[in-house]
Amino acid sequence: MKERLYLFDTTLRDGAQTNGVDFSLEDKVELAQLLDRLGLDYVEGGYPGANPTDTAFFAEKRTRHAVFTAFGMTRRPGVSTSNDPGLRTLLDAHADAVCFVAKTSDYHVRVALQTSEEENLEAIRQSVAAARAAGREALVDCEHFFDGYKANPAYALACARAAHESGARWVVLCDTNGGTLPEEVEAIVRAVAEVIPGDHLGIHAHNDTEQAVANSLAAVRGGARQIQGTLNGIGERCGNANLTSLIPTLMLKPAYADRFEVGVGPEGLRDLTRIAQRFDDMVNRAPNRQAPYVGVSAFTTKAGIHASAILKDPRTYEHVDPAVVGNRRHVLVSEQAGKANLIAELERMGIPVAKGDPRLDAVLREVKERESTGYAYEGAGASFELLARRMLGNVPDFFKVEGFHVTVERRHNALGELVSVSEAVVKLHVGGERLLTVAEGNGPVNALDRALRKDLGVYSEAIADLELIDFKVRILNGGTGAVTRVLIESGDSSGDTWFTVGVSENIVDASFEALHDSIVYKLLHAGAKAAA
Ligand SMILES: [Zn+2]
Repeated sequence: MKERLYLFDTTLRDGAQTNGVDFSLEDKVELAQLLDRLGLDYVEGGYPGANPTDTAFFAEKRTRHAVFTAFGMTRRPGVSTSNDPGLRTLLDAHADAVCFVAKTSDYHVRVALQTSEEENLEAIRQSVAAARAAGREALVDCEHFFDGYKANPAYALACARAAHESGARWVVLCDTNGGTLPEEVEAIVRAVAEVIPGDHLGIHAHNDTEQAVANSLAAVRGGARQIQGTLNGIGERCGNANLTSLIPTLMLKPAYADRFEVGVGPEGLRDLTRIAQRFDDMVNRAPNRQAPYVGVSAFTTKAGIHASAILKDPRTYEHVDPAVVGNRRHVLVSEQAGKANLIAELERMGIPVAKGDPRLDAVLREVKERESTGYAYEGAGASFELLARRMLGNVPDFFKVEGFHVTVERRHNALGELVSVSEAVVKLHVGGERLLTVAEGNGPVNALDRALRKDLGVYSEAIADLELIDFKVRILNGGTGAVTRVLIESGDSSGDTWFTVGVSENIVDASFEALHDSIVYKLLHAGAKAAA
């Protein structure tokens, strides 16, 4: 029988502390579902009462399987639990569990909380009891536990014991400042586990010495059975323990996999790369190419002897099979290997090409050339397919764009309000016909998109259900100055989605290129014929 390890996600709470990350309510709802489906045991949704988004998020339960957890402080010093409005809000939230953050270092009790050690213990006991009385599971995050333990082990332990004895399901030992090393974590957790059973102990590690994952594993070796962390390791300062790295390690490495089981199954594991990418997209962060397991480079080999060995047997230079975490092997060794990849990719798209076809070299050169100027075809499969098809001569000339014109005007409207209005004019040729369309939009790209799709002559019907799903802009600093890359996700009523890319020094130009590709891709896959 394997022992159960519980995974607690705090992306929506501690992860929301990340500089530059700001979740909308919709983001939080989507992420909670994503984490729930992945198989995490706990999803901590935020801090009800602290801001309108978190309060709205806790208006209903947002997970089906995971324990939906609200985060907040123990009752304030010197008031009763029933007279603390913060605690009231926490208990009113539609959550299954409440995670209290409590001070456990005597120094912080004195300096930050300005109360007595005994009053702090009482606040822990009474807050846990109040949550239990309200029918909630209770957890206590012991803030600064490791630093507190090193300075005054008796008091840190007294706090942990107060939480456990008053009925907290989990006593979570936090390395709040993130400076503790794995050997210290393991020793301290082992000592605490002599007082509080390990299956009631959790670890909350920060990454300030880049060892949050190692510290979490050290805590498990010391006896803890709950791990707290975030997707892609986001979080304040250097981040939290990275669940995206921890999950595969726990599931694939015999030292842990033989002893423990987690709530994530093989299917969830295979979804991990996609989830990590989706998450970066949502928070508009450049993915970490070197992220363990899920990064684009995690299974990419470039140098000579490694790559040729990998082609003979992948196990020579891969610690796990990339497919089990939903990633892919990339071998960038030579023209030859590049070509094999390209042929496989084209076959997947239904474009058969003979191995010796000289046009393959031209396509490879073009892709490399364009990627050096800012294009990224890995995230824009539809643009890659069009590029390849164009060079292999099978994209019909559906329509030609003669030119476009976009204006942005900022002025006062009839009500005296300051408004920005964008207008786009597109001139195109469909068959023998010259079309001129004009549309307004809430921004230049929106106006351009509307004008482009307003009247496409014989193709209007074929693109009627085309929809822009997402629009991402990234400024790249190349050798010759900044260029803008626009990535567009489109979809249609069949549920298909596709990604296109545009690059230019000008954001409107880059957007236009991506929009244009999206429409051509849609027409191609709708089986439209050239209007001649
Ligand atoms: Zn934290």
